[in-house]
Amino acid sequence: MNSDIKEVLVSEEEINETIQRLGKQLTEEYQGKNPLLVCILRGAAMFMMDLVKSLDFKMEYDFMDVSSYGGENTVTTGDVRIIKDLDTSVRDRDVVIVEDIIDTGYTLDRLVELFESRHAKSIKLVSFLDKPARRIKHVKVDYIGVEIPDEFVVGYGMDYDEHYRNLPYVGVLKPEVYSTK
Ligand code: 5GP
Repeated sequence: MNSDIKEVLVSEEEINETIQRLGKQLTEEYQGKNPLLVCILRGAAMFMMDLVKSLDFKMEYDFMDVSSYGGENTVTTGDVRIIKDLDTSVRDRDVVIVEDIIDTGYTLDRLVELFESRHAKSIKLVSFLDKPARRIKHVKVDYIGVEIPDEFVVGYGMDYDEHYRNLPYVGVLKPEVYSTK
């Protein structure tokens, strides 16, 4: 699996440093507020589980599964579907949406709209990766881990056709991996 990777963009060491930095920032902001952290499945699961361990305040978390592109296709379409909704109400809650990567911005834009319509008290966004080159919807992401160039990345929870999520770093696949599928 490692042999399918052309280049490592975010190493394990950089991931750990990023988590510690974001954890400190969130701990300053959310002390005493009992926010609801919403993990966007499945890509953000690994990031979320590392992030919550670095938070020193009372909080709850829940999971939501949305899809913005299908299976093997690596192009986002702007169509965001809810596959699994939250079990927790966001009404009057301070909500923190935790995402793996912001690309076109459609997913986060739609989720902010959704939680506003459900009367969240506040909504802030955390994204582990940011790919600003491809932004269409200009959503304000409050906490960003690492900015990356316009490459399709895998690892640290992120997949290509459901594989490579278990890589402990973020990398770019060799072009032949796509062509041999
Ligand atoms: P957006 O709606 O901002 O275009 O895209 C957000 C979602 O698209 C992410 O949560 C992620 O699931 C997927 N995505 C965008 N870029 C990449 C990428 O480089 N690699 C992977 N594995 N998924 C991506």
